[in-house]
Amino acid sequence: MELFNLKGKTAIITGANTGLGQAICVAYAKAGANIVAVARRDCDETKALVEKTGSKFLFIKADLSSTAAIPSIIDGSVKEFGSADILVNNAGMILRCDAVDVTEEDWNKVIDLNQNVVFFLSQAFAKYNIMAKRPAKIINICSMLSYQGGIRVPAYTASKSAILGLTRALCNEWAKYNINVNGIAPGYIETNNTKQIQEDKDRYDSILDRIPQGRWGKPEDIVGAAIFLASDASNYVNGFTIAVDGGWLSR
Ligand code: NAP
Repeated sequence: MELFNLKGKTAIITGANTGLGQAICVAYAKAGANIVAVARRDCDETKALVEKTGSKFLFIKADLSSTAAIPSIIDGSVKEFGSADILVNNAGMILRCDAVDVTEEDWNKVIDLNQNVVFFLSQAFAKYNIMAKRPAKIINICSMLSYQGGIRVPAYTASKSAILGLTRALCNEWAKYNINVNGIAPGYIETNNTKQIQEDKDRYDSILDRIPQGRWGKPEDIVGAAIFLASDASNYVNGFTIAVDGGWLSR
């Protein structure tokens, strides 16, 4: 189990207040990491869950709709814990709309959060670790729509497909600095992100029918892959995105 130990590591997780981000914070805390929780809203529930494990917790309030907060995230982590070893680019949004009706404003909102901030936060994180000569791990939360087209979510699909490509591109540049850049592509998981389709019973059931494992995922289903990719167990895994989808992509 030593291979999966995160003791002494500091993990920055964006979108830490709820859903997958919260589950990853708690799992990393249980594995021994200091947690830097980044969110635009208060993170009291995540804080309580993390502190119950005995791990340390820092909250950085940041709206990631632009790159403005990026320096405060890396500086905050280093100032509090002396390092920034793991970055999980988890914050993301989805806007459902027919492609012919998508406004430029809505398109940019999704691309800014899901794609542009992912790149520039990763860049700042890598710059710090390259200068500090420290090994590091970046984990991008991708999607089934990194592989498929989806329905009525063109900006989401564009951004999630982009970050799968970015995962490969950044691996090629940063592997030589001992920075691993990998992704997780969750299948259909019950969180706020999928609330609209969970509430549409026909849609929920038709998705369910297509999942070989016969159930939607829970946030806790993601944490095994997230710990693996953050830990020494994955030191020679680089540029790859792991699907955690109950078999969805195999259909
Ligand atoms: P979620 O509950 O909607 O979580 C999204 C997180 O991103 C929330 O913490 C949200 O904060 C945060 N966020 C949104 N806009 C932000 C902004 N401008 N600045 C800072 N934070 C912002 O859904 P989730 O399922 O846990 O999503 C986590 C990631 O998984 C996303 O990247 C999503 O695309 C991806 N994903 C989810 C699924 C799924 O089935 N659930 C499948 C594939 C991929 P607020 O709570 O304040 O909105």
